[in-house]
Amino acid sequence: MILMKDVHKTYPNGVTALNGINVEIEQGEFVYIVGPSGAGKSTFIRLMYREAKATNGTIMINDLDMSSLKEKKVPFLRRDIGVVFQDFKLLPKLSVYENIAFALEVIEESPRNIRKLVMDVLELVGLKNKARFIPDELSGGEQQRVSIARAIVNKPKIVIADEPTGNLDPDTSWEIMKILEEINSSGTTIIMATHSKEIVNTIKKRVIAIEDGLIVRDEHRGEYGYEI
Ligand code: ADP
Ligand code: ADP
Repeated sequence: MILMKDVHKTYPNGVTALNGINVEIEQGEFVYIVGPSGAGKSTFIRLMYREAKATNGTIMINDLDMSSLKEKKVPFLRRDIGVVFQDFKLLPKLSVYENIAFALEVIEESPRNIRKLVMDVLELVGLKNKARFIPDELSGGEQQRVSIARAIVNKPKIVIADEPTGNLDPDTSWEIMKILEEINSSGTTIIMATHSKEIVNTIKKRVIAIEDGLIVRDEHRGEYGYEI
């Protein structure tokens, strides 16, 4: 479960990105985060995996209190959260297989398990035949599938995706959404920031709209609600 109570975030330069966020997201939900550029969506998302710290307020992620979570415990939090970025953030010199295996090596998974887990997740995203390719040899959609595979290989409870289809053409974007829906159907919470009106209005899910650092709308099976 994700819980935020009266969360504020002011950056060191004095910019207030979040100005009193209250929200509760249950395990297994699929939530779109929408709103204009600069509204605070990325900040909201970064607080969840402790890429940023709140200035004020309470954030609980799977019963961990972010305000008292020690730096050395952050890796424990990250084991339960997979993150997918708009620009994939794959390691360019490593193969598809190695990019995904790396996520398991850092949490000291045994070599025997690594092979099985990586091949299983490559099967899930349909890239078993490209395990030896490097990112440059893949299309954008395939690179995003690798980055999703890397995010879910250790079976996190939550997957956070910050504009995962932002760099992809429409057909490829629908493929990525199908994979995210499949991951969600097995009980994983999905939090996805997006500017895609088509996706939000077609694949209906909970919609949380953020403007000027505040939640201005929170609807079950909501609409995108903006023109761009
Ligand atoms: P969105 O994802 O909706 O575009 P952001 O959370 O990125 O919004 O940004 C919200 C506000 O915080 C903006 O005014 C942005 O310029 C500012 N901001 C974001 N990150 C930083 C940072 N690291 N330092 C200072 N200001 C930032
Ligand atoms: P798209 O235009 O749909 O993004 P690409 O034309 O980039 O896709 O790639 C089409 C297919 O060719 C993909 O399956 C990709 O893996 C493969 N491919 C692209 N570039 C290379 C390359 N340099 N070496 C090997 N395979 C490649």
